[in-house]
Amino acid sequence: MKIVMLGAPGAGKGTQAKMIAAKYDIPHVSTGDIFRANIKNGTELGKEAKSYMDKGALVPDELTVRILLDRVAQDDCAKGYVLDGFPRTIPQAEVLDAELIKLNDKIDFAINVDVPDENIVRRMSGRRSCPSCGATYHIVHIPPKQEGVCDKCGAALVQRDDDKEETVKNRLKVYHEQTQPLIDFYEKKGVLKNVDGTVDSEEVFAAIVNILD
Ligand code: ADP
Ligand code: AMP
Repeated sequence: MKIVMLGAPGAGKGTQAKMIAAKYDIPHVSTGDIFRANIKNGTELGKEAKSYMDKGALVPDELTVRILLDRVAQDDCAKGYVLDGFPRTIPQAEVLDAELIKLNDKIDFAINVDVPDENIVRRMSGRRSCPSCGATYHIVHIPPKQEGVCDKCGAALVQRDDDKEETVKNRLKVYHEQTQPLIDFYEKKGVLKNVDGTVDSEEVFAAIVNILD
C-alpha cells in the first residue's frame, strides 16, 4: 500500500503517518525528517537544506526528489510506504508518478488532513519533538507524561527552528501557492480522500483506518 499524506504544515500529517506506519507495518518516509537528520549530522545536504528550511521555503525539487527516490528504492519500501511531506509541488508529484509507472505501480491513497489556517499557528507553536527518536507532541493537545521529556525514549524535547511564528506564516503561504494544487492533482487521479483534521488525533486516525481498510 502506497500512501501520500497531504495537508498544511502542522495539520497532523506526521502524527497520522506514524500511526499508519505502525498499524500497517510500512515505513514512514518524511523528507523533513531526512533533512533534519542531515542537519543534525552536519552533512553537506543538511547545510544546503537548512538554508531553505530556516526561511520557511521549500528545498529545491531536484535535490528533494533525488533524496526521496533513493529512500523509496530501499528494500523496506518494497511492499509500500506512507509519504509525509512529499510531494510538495506538482513537479515532485509528476516525477514520483513517472517512477511508479516505470514499476507498473501507483499511489493508492492521497489522504488530505484538512485543518484551517486559523488552527495551524497554534498547532505549530505548541509542537515539541524528540531530537532522538522523532516522536511528536503538542504542549496542550498531545502532551508528554512529563513536561519536556519524551515518553518513548526519555530525551529532552525541543521546538523546531522553523516553528517560530514568522517562519510558520511563510510556510503557510508557500503551502497555499505550491502544495495545495496537489489536492486537485490526486483528485483527478481518483485517489484523494479528505479527512477532518480538526478533531482529536485518535478520531482522525479512525477516519483514516476506515478509508484504508
Ligand atoms: P505535520 O506533520 O502536518 O507538520 P504534526 O503531525 O507534526 O504536523 O502536528 C503538528 C502539531 O499538532 C504537533 O504538535 C502535534 O502533536 C499536534 N497535533 C497533531 N494532530 C493533532 C490533532 N488531531 N489535534 C490537536 N493537535 C494535533
Ligand atoms: P516538514 O517536516 O514536512 O514540515 O518539512 C520541514 C521543511 O523541510 C519544509 O518547510 C521544507 O523547507 C523542507 N521540505 C520537506 N519536505 C520537502 C519537500 N517535499 N520539498 C521541498 N522542501 C521540503
